[in-house]
This record gives sequence, C-alpha cells and structure tokens, in this order.
Amino acid sequence: MSGPAPETPPKGLDEFGEIDRLFRPLTRGAPGAFELRDDAAVIPQRPGFDLVVTKDAIVEGVHFPEGEAPELVARKLVRVNVSDLAAKAAEPFAAFLAVAWPQGFAGRDRELFAMGLAADLEAFGIDLLGGDTVSTSGPFTCTLTAMGWVPAGRMVRRAGARPGDKLLVSGTIGDATLGLAAVKGQIEDADGRLAYRYRMPEPRVDLRETLRRHATAAADVSDGLVADARHIAEASGVGLLIDLDRLPLSGAAATWLERQADVGASLLRLGTGGDDYEVVCTMASGVRKPPGFTVIGEVREGEGVEVRAAGRVVDPGAGGWRHG
Ligand code: ADP
Ligand code: MG
Repeated sequence: MSGPAPETPPKGLDEFGEIDRLFRPLTRGAPGAFELRDDAAVIPQRPGFDLVVTKDAIVEGVHFPEGEAPELVARKLVRVNVSDLAAKAAEPFAAFLAVAWPQGFAGRDRELFAMGLAADLEAFGIDLLGGDTVSTSGPFTCTLTAMGWVPAGRMVRRAGARPGDKLLVSGTIGDATLGLAAVKGQIEDADGRLAYRYRMPEPRVDLRETLRRHATAAADVSDGLVADARHIAEASGVGLLIDLDRLPLSGAAATWLERQADVGASLLRLGTGGDDYEVVCTMASGVRKPPGFTVIGEVREGEGVEVRAAGRVVDPGAGGWRHG
C-alpha cells in the first residue's frame, strides 16, 4: 500500500525484541497467540457460547491525568474493558492491545506499563493474543479489545427492561466522582479511599451468575448512574423512575453528604458523576433482591427518566458525562 509516510518507521529488531520482552509473557502460553510471532492470532471456538467483544481507548490528559504512573494506566485500561464484559455477564478470556508510546516514554516506563498490564490480565484470567505497537508525537494512548464468553444467546443487553421491572445498582455509587474531586484537592479524603476508587476501578466480574440468572437488562456505570440507566431506558423503549434517596453510599460518601447544605443537589452530583464501574440493571418485580444490589427505582411504560432526590423531582440535566 502506498500513501503518506507512516508515523512509525518500519520495525527494527529492537521493536520486535520489545514486543517479545514486554508482551509475550502476557500470552500466558495461549496457543492462539503463537507467542506474538505471527501476523495474526486465532481465537478458539467454545461450543455453546457466544464471543462477547468490547473495546475502550484511554488517552492521557482525557481519561487519566498527565504523568499518571504507567502501571496504573495499564490497570485502568484493563479494568474499564473488563467492566463492559462484566455488565454483559461475560467471562473474560482474551484481549488485544494497541499502544501509542509518546515521545519520552522510555524503557522503564514501558516496562512498568507491561507490569501493570500483566498483573491485571492475570487477575482477571485474560490471555493477551496480539496487538500493535506504534509511536506518536501526541499524548499516550492505549486501547484494548477484550473478549469474553457467554452461553449462546445469553448476553445481557441494554434492551430488555420491561415495565414493572425494578431498577437496581450494585455496590456503592458516587465514590469515584468524589475521588476525582479529592485528587484535585477539592474535598477531604483522609484515608485516600475515594481517590483510590477513582484511580483503580473494580469491575464487577463477581456478579456474572446473578446477572445471567435475573437481569432483564444491564449496563456498567461509567458515564454516571443516571446517564447509564437512561441508556437502558432508551434501548429498551421504556421509562424509568430513579429515586436517589435510595442511592447506596459508602461510609466516606455518606460522611461527605452529611456535611452538604443542599442534600438534593449533592445526591444528584453523586448520581450523575462517572467512573463508578458498578452495574445498573433491571430485574422482574418478583425476583428477590440479590445480595450486593440496591433497588433504586422502577421501570415504567412510556419513555423518559424521572429522577427524585430529597423527596422532590429534580432535573438531572445531561445526567452524566456526554462523550465529546
Ligand atoms: P506487523 O505490523 O508486521 O503486522 P506487528 O509488529 O504489528 O507486525 O505484530 C507482530 C506480532 O506482535 C503480532 O502477533 C502482533 O499481534 C504482536 N503485537 C504487536 N504489538 C503488540 C502489543 N502491543 N501487544 C500484544 N501483541 C502485540
Ligand atoms: Mg504482520
């Protein structure tokens, strides 16, 4: 193929050496990876299962702060992708990585990135099957394509909520948005728990069986609870009531809330902040609430999302992050 000069020069021995050294161990011997020494990989069949695929990119200065520790960048990359698989009730098993190293991101930084990646791919049972490595004059950018298995036809969709279902969310909500404020020095975070929750998402792979059994629809909470619940409503062609007075809060978030003058506005801030990486889902009204979930509302006929906080109907605005 002819065209403009590529940004990355043809790979020399060093670059193949780097892939070998940094990334080959992360295949964990998966046969389809061919030790990252072929042009492409082979994904094994798993009879009776569908392959669920997702891809998230993260960019320095946009999705993580400039100068963030390379191993944390790698771990966040894995976790935001695994969170999508978790919300679909898929069992992670393989990934493809693309990295664009920025200028000055040298040997040790690349090693630290690979170490963070190794730690979390291992933690979530994921083999690296391939990828691409380039250089850029722009910001550090990395993307992962993550794959998981679900029993055939059983991926939990956003479309699937039915009027009368209850709306539930896992874990606690709002810690990450408070964590971001803490990282910026805007709020107190004595033990660092809130900041940690922002920097190191904990994808809910543990909910897989419950979601498969009971969820009629699900999404992970990355843009903000209200925005992601709205995704379910729109995909399902239903309306939602969300009662933020029922929002599950961590001790730290509850303490923060107690100190706020305007409880309604503060609940709205927690319910619309991003990066929680919990799962919002719907279940039939007759299903008993599974442990680890909180009922926060219900599915209605029609369309639109009604949000209540401090006993009143509030306007959530855009309801979370809009992708720019
Ligand atoms: P080409 O550009 O000639 O297709 P590459 O150098 O991109 O070859 O890839 C060589 C092998 O190394 C392939 O198996 C590819 O999947 C793997 N690879 C390259 N970069 C990465 C990476 N960042 N992570 C995982 N595998 C990689
Ligand atoms: Mg090739």
